Amino acid sequence: MPKADYIWMDGEMRRWEDCTVHVMSHALHYGSSVFEGIRAYETPDGPAIFRLEDHIERLYRSARMYRIEIPYDVDTVCRACVAAVRENKLTAGYIRPLAFRGAGSVGVTARDMPIHLIIAAFPWGTYLGPEALEKGVDVAVSSWNRLAPNTVPPGMKAGGNYLSSMLIGYEAKDRGVAEGIGLGHDGLLSEGSGENLFLVEDGVIRTPPGAASILKGITRDTAIKLLADMGHVVIEQPLPREALYTADEVFFTGTAAEITPIKRVDHIDVGTGDYPVTRAVQDAFFGLFTGKTADTRNWLHRI
Ligand code: PMP
Repeated sequence: MPKADYIWMDGEMRRWEDCTVHVMSHALHYGSSVFEGIRAYETPDGPAIFRLEDHIERLYRSARMYRIEIPYDVDTVCRACVAAVRENKLTAGYIRPLAFRGAGSVGVTARDMPIHLIIAAFPWGTYLGPEALEKGVDVAVSSWNRLAPNTVPPGMKAGGNYLSSMLIGYEAKDRGVAEGIGLGHDGLLSEGSGENLFLVEDGVIRTPPGAASILKGITRDTAIKLLADMGHVVIEQPLPREALYTADEVFFTGTAAEITPIKRVDHIDVGTGDYPVTRAVQDAFFGLFTGKTADTRNWLHRI
């Protein structure tokens, strides 16, 4: 388990070991938590948190869906994220804000329990393996579909949603590949268990739309904007499964996975093994942290 010295919990910085919850916490029983995953990067001007405000705003959107009233404003939570990085003396790492229903009642719809908010920050390397960013990963289409619309909203980052991600992810690992791709209830492409999906074919870049049972990733949005800066338009459209096997390039985007090329889908090689578009987005993305790419949209929140 990753570890750091402190976690911000319910308004104060506490020692990591002291951040415990009661076994009767509602979130433990029913998955009533919402969270974010954010990365901090080392830059020439010191550590910076990437798109902090966008992540915290998404946290509040997820919370609103489940009537989780976070007892702090966005600004306070952003400052707490900065404090969590600073107090743990991190130069880079992963930040995990999590709001959840605590102990007070076992009723599923009860609301008379405290809402807790924790912000952990700890070191974290590449998500899909050490060579993933450079060499790409093998993936497989999952036998598990993503959450269907009108069941549990896939566009919210709620704890319970990750039962679906676990099934997709475990199955992928059991099959010996790095990640699984979930199809939507309609059989069309959706996303990885924790990443959005992009396909490039004949120079056209496509990604499944918001309605394809995806979480609209902040890295997805980043890739779309960085590609626009390079003169590419990304088309958001429903995509059939077979597009995975005819694409010249396929890549994942996500805070954890960053920009990861996909080199094989269901044991079929993607394209010729050359990833010019993926490499260009990767370079532009990581360039934000070296200073090679200008941060024209104020995405870097300095510590
Ligand atoms: N889809 C799912 C299901 C995810 O968990 C994530 C990670 N948050 C993503 C997509 C990518 O989102 P982001 O780029 O905001 O990290």
